[in-house]
Amino acid sequence: MTFVTAEPYIGHLGLDGVGDTKGLLESEMRQHHIKWLTSSRVKKVEAGRMTVEQVGDDGAAKGETELPFGFSMMLPAFRGIAPLRGIEGLSNPRGFTLVDKYQRNPKYTNIFAVGVCVAIPPTGPTPVPCGVPKTGFMIESMVTATAGNIGLLLRGEEPRHQASWNAVCLADFGDSGVAFVAQPQIPPRNVNWSSSGKWVHGAKIAFEKYFLHKMRRGTSETFYEKLTLDVLGINKLKEIVTDSP
Ligand SMILES: Cc1cc2nc3c(=O)[nH]c(=O)nc-3n(C[C@H](O)[C@H](O)[C@H](O)COP(=O)(O)OP(=O)(O)OC[C@H]3O[C@@H](n4cnc5c(N)ncnc54)[C@H](O)[C@@H]3O)c2cc1C
Repeated sequence: MTFVTAEPYIGHLGLDGVGDTKGLLESEMRQHHIKWLTSSRVKKVEAGRMTVEQVGDDGAAKGETELPFGFSMMLPAFRGIAPLRGIEGLSNPRGFTLVDKYQRNPKYTNIFAVGVCVAIPPTGPTPVPCGVPKTGFMIESMVTATAGNIGLLLRGEEPRHQASWNAVCLADFGDSGVAFVAQPQIPPRNVNWSSSGKWVHGAKIAFEKYFLHKMRRGTSETFYEKLTLDVLGINKLKEIVTDSP
């Protein structure tokens, strides 16, 4: 199996790494006999064969590699949906929605954006462009801030809630995995923690069951979830803002 990525190194994750993700993810891939090609872009795909171009640190093409395959999976670079593309002040050239620190578009102030559609600049230049990932907990923090800010506007006040954009991730490798916490997701960070082991695989299964159970009950955050995250210091909002100034 070969993992082909735009990242300049394994474990970059579009975040310039989190803690030891470079070493941890390389090690996990070696353990699972997965080879990798970094700073790479796909040139063409033919029946049973993919042609990949590797790019040097100077941005110049270094050469092509042909990868024969029986099964392949590709995640193309994300872009915004067509209705949002090409609107000056609303979206960036790739169609992602521009927001201020309150999740609100600076030009069209009645538009808020949350999730994958939000424009986030890359953490830094890389030979092949690498987008910043938008992860579940980070998006929940955007939604929490947005809901609070729309509530404030409806009460005639100004938005004050800022999402923490913290990232809590469990990357499952089938029998083990790598976990990381990045607070905030974009450096410089206050928390930059990563770890690996069989427990990550178990935790991912447990989380899936817990998450689906609470969604079926229509609960976005249980008391114990909030308590645990509070104890760990992982918050959805940057600061606790009360409704009365
Ligand atoms: C392979 C993969 C693995 C991931 N693993 C993790 C993980 O382990 N942990 C983690 O935290 N995050 C993970 N993520 C990221 C996380 O899943 C996403 O960030 C999250 O689902 C995004 O939520 P969203 O609501 O912004 O967008 P989406 O979940 O993509 O929802 C967008 C919705 O809009 C709909 N839509 C599209 N166009 C239109 C249109 N024109 N009109 C109306 N509706 C439209 C789509 O059908 C879709 O339902 C992963 C993502 C991928 C792709």
